Amino acid sequence: MQLIQTNADIITQRDIWQHKGTKVGLVPTMGFLHEGHLSLVRTAQIENELVVVSIFVNPLQFGPKEDLSRYPRDLNRDLALLEKEGVSLVFNPSPEEIYPPGFDASVEIGGVSAPLEGVIRPGHFRGVATVVAKLFHLVGPSAAYFGQKDAQQVAVIKKMVRDLNFPLEIRVIPTVREPDGLALSSRNIFLSPQQRSSALILYRALQAAETTWRKYPTERKGSTLRQIMTEVIATEPEARPDYLSAADPETLQEYEGPIPAGKGVLLSLAVRFGTTRLIDNFLLEADG
Ligand code: AMP
Repeated sequence: MQLIQTNADIITQRDIWQHKGTKVGLVPTMGFLHEGHLSLVRTAQIENELVVVSIFVNPLQFGPKEDLSRYPRDLNRDLALLEKEGVSLVFNPSPEEIYPPGFDASVEIGGVSAPLEGVIRPGHFRGVATVVAKLFHLVGPSAAYFGQKDAQQVAVIKKMVRDLNFPLEIRVIPTVREPDGLALSSRNIFLSPQQRSSALILYRALQAAETTWRKYPTERKGSTLRQIMTEVIATEPEARPDYLSAADPETLQEYEGPIPAGKGVLLSLAVRFGTTRLIDNFLLEADG
């Protein structure tokens, strides 16, 4: 497995792949890898001749009061995991390599960046879109792999690819969960044992709304689905929700009244436990 840390070196590789017509899959991550990341890697390996995993904790996507400095990192452990998976190349640039002095560009994707996380984390998706655009240029993949866990990120990246004509496919991989339902996240290590058990409430809230969606088609209303999630979250005193949403999966606009027949729904929520903030979602199909 090759470890590359500079733009010049990754561009050299990219040019070789492009010359040979090699099908490259890119898995962008911030490291501290878990089975969720590895599931992206495994799918990328099935679908490509060669897989590049990027590990970069992107300062641009963290707000001034967010957890950039305490974001968990363990490069050696990550490299060992990826080596075991048979990954060809890891791209692990420094912040200075990606954002050299004088760097002054940003990629702003309107519409889908604005609600939900966009309200709570202003500038977050500008940071995500900017770094992902750079990674796409530097690596030149045929396909890039993202987790459904970050549903709004998927919507933003898909929109960016469409609007800016990036020549690649975006592949979305289902959320990997602990056996009890908690979505895997690098931030889960910050949860105390008490918070870890309280955190299950995200999954329970999504499940309760999903049950109503499936059993009572007449209750397919945005307000009803949000109300159900709100009531379940309220049973957990440690949980402080930032938002609970039942939205159009493409536009991310909240559904207010009855959800039109033939439309699915993205149920999503962000909940704080102490200083740790967790997100999760279910994407429910119209015929589900
Ligand atoms: P991160 O390192 O948190 O930026 O995540 C890198 C990629 O892994 C993103 O596309 C995430 O959506 C994806 N990911 C994170 N957690 C999970 C999970 N539990 N299941 C599937 N994909 C995930």
